[in-house]
Amino acid sequence: MTLKLFNTLTRSVQEFAPLDPAGKKVGLYCCGPTVYDFAHIGNWRTFVFADLVRRVLELSGYDVQHVMNITDVEDKIIKRVRENKGSLAEFTSKFEKAFFEDLKALGCREPHLKPRATAHIPEIIDLITRLIARKVAYRTADGSVYFSIEKYRGCGCCYGQLLKLNLDEMRAGERVAADEYEKESVADFALWKARVPEDGDVFWSSPFGEGRPGWHIECSAMSMKALGETFDLHLGGEDLKFPHHEDEIAQSEGATGKPFVKHWLHGAHLLVEGKKMSKSLGNFFTLRDLQTKGFTGREVRYLLLTAHYRETFNFTLEGLGGARTALARIDECVSKLRELAAGQTALPENSLDQQFSDALADDLNISAAWASVFEWVRETNKRLAENLLSANAAASALAAWEKVDSVLGIGVQAEIDIPAEIRSLADARAEAKKVRDFKLADAIRDDLKAKGWLIEDTPKGSKLKKL
Ligand code: AMP
Ligand code: ZN
Repeated sequence: MTLKLFNTLTRSVQEFAPLDPAGKKVGLYCCGPTVYDFAHIGNWRTFVFADLVRRVLELSGYDVQHVMNITDVEDKIIKRVRENKGSLAEFTSKFEKAFFEDLKALGCREPHLKPRATAHIPEIIDLITRLIARKVAYRTADGSVYFSIEKYRGCGCCYGQLLKLNLDEMRAGERVAADEYEKESVADFALWKARVPEDGDVFWSSPFGEGRPGWHIECSAMSMKALGETFDLHLGGEDLKFPHHEDEIAQSEGATGKPFVKHWLHGAHLLVEGKKMSKSLGNFFTLRDLQTKGFTGREVRYLLLTAHYRETFNFTLEGLGGARTALARIDECVSKLRELAAGQTALPENSLDQQFSDALADDLNISAAWASVFEWVRETNKRLAENLLSANAAASALAAWEKVDSVLGIGVQAEIDIPAEIRSLADARAEAKKVRDFKLADAIRDDLKAKGWLIEDTPKGSKLKKL
């Protein structure tokens, strides 16, 4: 299958071809979380999108090296560390741990490399040193180092590759020290920020003096260390195009003189109930908030995967309810297939995986991909109801589903989605039945029902279903 993806660099849908001459290895970098709080559902849209891209590449047969950095030093983090009065590492490690727990609950494959910015200070210093040597970075009196957009452009390089910037309004030499700044201001940005009292203990020594790195340079240093000076794919949410990604390009190409990334992918944003998420509007959700409301990571993943990555997605709690119903349809169909197919060999199948892969190869056309899944569920249910499916055919259908699910990552109702308490009640009921204590078994069943779980006895044992 020929995979086509929209490239922000060329503003067009392009055939994806890896840089690897053997056509096998693919380097994929996704800007990771800034670990100053729990990731919110908007962040998760972007990380689930990165997981989808990786899985589609893997389905296409590529050997993907997936890198996602951890931004563990940056303006917002330092402010919070100051407020919380602990050390930087104590503060960030708590959110980093939570991030990976949530990533797992959302069924995302773990990136192969997860570099932390604080573990790459020598690489960052080295990159800044190269930029100074190439005269596209300059030191200021306070010991900071800035990137000079004017000098960079003077070398024939292009600033404004990912979007059109009004460079005529640029006032050369105007500087921004903040990691995030006005989208309209094209200004020299900080590579190294001289130590100030508010930084507390957060500083490193460097040839430019004590200080800390700017956010943009962290990603340039970590991505090039992991994937080389030119690599295949770089991803992030659309808000990162400018200034973060534009600055990454400028720093990297300014230092190496080579193209930085071949293919840029940006995911559109997520709104909640039609509005930008904000704590004051009460529409701000972390994954944990949704789990407290009784939803599972799998349901959230499903919902996030229903929208095309280049379209703004409106997340609603009602939509999550719909996700539960849709997943139940898939689960029911797949578990019937499992029962029928037990022990049988799969014959080569099936239109499902072909239609599904074709849809995704077309710039990740996820709506068409889901349509092929639900059409398949409808057809399969019909054939099952009419007893038209042999055990071999069921095994083939299952094999096709498993291939499809290697991309969707929703499985059949995963074990992890059944809380430990519910699982142990189900075990206790099975034990009670075994010793013929039916009164106890019934009482446990009622208890499970009160907790929102239905237990069904089948010839192959009992099954739990969420009510
Ligand atoms: P941060 O931890 O703030 O650096 O963000 C991590 C990722 O989440 C970045 O790729 C952002 O572009 C992305 N992101 C932030 N807000 C949203 C949103 N509302 N919808 C989708 N992605 C977002
Ligand atoms: Zn980045």
